[in-house]
Amino acid sequence: MDYIAEKVDAIVIGGGHAGCEAALSLARLGKKTIMFCLNIEAIAKMPCNPNIGGTSKGHLVKEIDALGGEMGKVIDKTYIQSKMLNTSKGPAVHSLRAQADKVKYHKEMLRVLESESNLIIKQQEVASILIENCQIIGIKTVTDAIYFTKAVIVCTGTYLKSKVFIGEFSEHSGPDGLKSSLHLSDSLTNNGIFLRRFKTGTPARVDKRTINFDEMEEQFGDDKVTPFSFLNLENDIKKDQISCFLTYTNENTHQIIRDNLDRSPLYSGQIEGIGPRYCPSIEDKVVRFSDKSRHQIFIEPEGLDTNEMYVQGMSSSLPEDVQIKMLRSVKGLEKVEVIRGGYAIEYDCINSTTLLHSLEHKTISGLFFAGQINGSSGYEEAAAQGLVAGINAALKIDGNEPMIIDRSEGYIGVLIDDLVIKGTNEPYRMLTSRAEYRLLLRQDNADFRLRAIGYKVGLVSEDAYNKFLLKKEEIELEIERLKKVFLGTTKTVQEILISKNSAPLISGISLYELLKRPELNYKDFDLVNLDRPKLTDQVIEQIEIMLKYEGYIKRQLIQIEQFKKLENKIIPENLNYEKVSSLRNEARQKLLEINPKSIGAASRISGVSPADISVLLVYIEQINRMRRATNESIS
Ligand SMILES: Cc1cc2nc3c(=O)[nH]c(=O)nc-3n(C[C@H](O)[C@H](O)[C@H](O)COP(=O)(O)OP(=O)(O)OC[C@H]3O[C@@H](n4cnc5c(N)ncnc54)[C@H](O)[C@@H]3O)c2cc1C
Repeated sequence: MDYIAEKVDAIVIGGGHAGCEAALSLARLGKKTIMFCLNIEAIAKMPCNPNIGGTSKGHLVKEIDALGGEMGKVIDKTYIQSKMLNTSKGPAVHSLRAQADKVKYHKEMLRVLESESNLIIKQQEVASILIENCQIIGIKTVTDAIYFTKAVIVCTGTYLKSKVFIGEFSEHSGPDGLKSSLHLSDSLTNNGIFLRRFKTGTPARVDKRTINFDEMEEQFGDDKVTPFSFLNLENDIKKDQISCFLTYTNENTHQIIRDNLDRSPLYSGQIEGIGPRYCPSIEDKVVRFSDKSRHQIFIEPEGLDTNEMYVQGMSSSLPEDVQIKMLRSVKGLEKVEVIRGGYAIEYDCINSTTLLHSLEHKTISGLFFAGQINGSSGYEEAAAQGLVAGINAALKIDGNEPMIIDRSEGYIGVLIDDLVIKGTNEPYRMLTSRAEYRLLLRQDNADFRLRAIGYKVGLVSEDAYNKFLLKKEEIELEIERLKKVFLGTTKTVQEILISKNSAPLISGISLYELLKRPELNYKDFDLVNLDRPKLTDQVIEQIEIMLKYEGYIKRQLIQIEQFKKLENKIIPENLNYEKVSSLRNEARQKLLEINPKSIGAASRISGVSPADISVLLVYIEQINRMRRATNESIS
């Protein structure tokens, strides 16, 4: 029998990476919030790879931190190995990745959540959402408890009607044997929210005492550790690190897989959900890249106090006996014991083009969605959406305009714009190639792009903001000072240049100009740059990048101006696309379905051509001219 349990400002359904950021931002913005989850012991769980960050995902974590989110701080406390990836390439793709101790990560995030006074965590399954006149009013649990509220954020991840597959075996289950969420999907569908099936998979976890590491290449962390959080310096988080190990599959492994493809639920048609192209299972890799004689396998620790090792690169839902055989065909794993087998999981998710850029549903006011349920994949993508949805739910409750990060301001902007404008037909993971302005969207300057926004919405503290302003001022002052530091062709200067294989000077030059040379670094001139202020490595890194990439940055800023012009060309609300006669049918249908706010957004919808955009621009200009004429005649 239904009973009224409570009335709160906001409800978050889910304690995963999206739910945690959403709940924390709501509570920290003064909203009395309840976060529901199926298992408190699985809050901030990492059901797949034991790491945070990596190419483009490191950018998302830095941006979450710059806006006042929590993921960066938690991983700085719980990492067991840290590595900056892609350092042989330009700074736009430098990406931080940290191996996490999964249990410590969960415990630290739970500690942070439990320390928030405005936040209550409840272990209970939400069965339905309650809506009145297209406005969310509450939720009901499987135990018939009704909670009234002004905003609900659905962050149910890979649990909605989730089903696990291992060979011929399958059952309704969440990740790692946790319970599945079996009721909420029907409620969403009954309220007109279309659901579809996506799938993802994970590899086995094996016992480290049964691995022959001598047969593998040890992978060490970096000596110099870079924090994810802008509030941390290297010395704040420095610690002993543990290693990962590299080995490879071989022809024998591939043959075992080929011989058993008929028993794979992926290839037997049992699994209907669409899987991620960029995180393929080992079965998919062997089939799709049949020319490759071996695939890289990274053996990664799941934590300090466990024997479990994650077999990165061998995600599989093949039958258990086949998994054991294929694992033992790999060098170093010949005697391996499997602790947890690999599996595939299928789950319900929504069509993200039904959402606004604030992640609020287009037709149900106060209902937000964040994370894997939006069709994305990855802890970082989920956390970024959770943070944005949490902030916007709080702004909505206060009747304020939403916080929208656009494609020129952050990977978070690229992520959300891709989801709500382009949509996705498979689990969407972030890639640097998705960002047009990636030279400006580097991970190292995320605070320059987003700190002020985080401060404005109230998530970044006064102290943190002042620290950022001080850093910004230090950088600007030093760049100005370097323009006035002139170096002559002295013996010391020439020796420095020769030692760096850099052309000797033939006449005097400012240090500002000299440091544009790619082979030279700021600290190389400490001998001659005597009055230089004491600066942190973070500040020096910014100065070097701004000087060396000045030309490229200027060019990208011009491109962004063009982008902003189209983003600011607003499409009149309720524009009747049926009346725009020269639009192609496909474009008209897509524009009606997605209802973009600006010409810029309209131009990114697949199926809307540049010719359609020109037609639209002319039509809108005609409407505006008629409106102006009418206003003039009235006045
Ligand atoms: C097997 C597996 C393999 C994966 N492989 C990859 C990969 O290779 N690459 C990658 O990038 N990502 C992968 N992921 C995805 C990654 O785990 C997710 O992207 C990330 O965890 C999503 O975070 P989230 O917050 O959206 O949801 P989740 O972390 O899934 O959390 C969902 C939360 O919602 C709660 N919940 C659900 N329904 C209800 C309800 N009705 N009532 C109350 N609480 C509810 C759950 O208890 C949980 O706390 C994988 C996930 C799984 C399970």
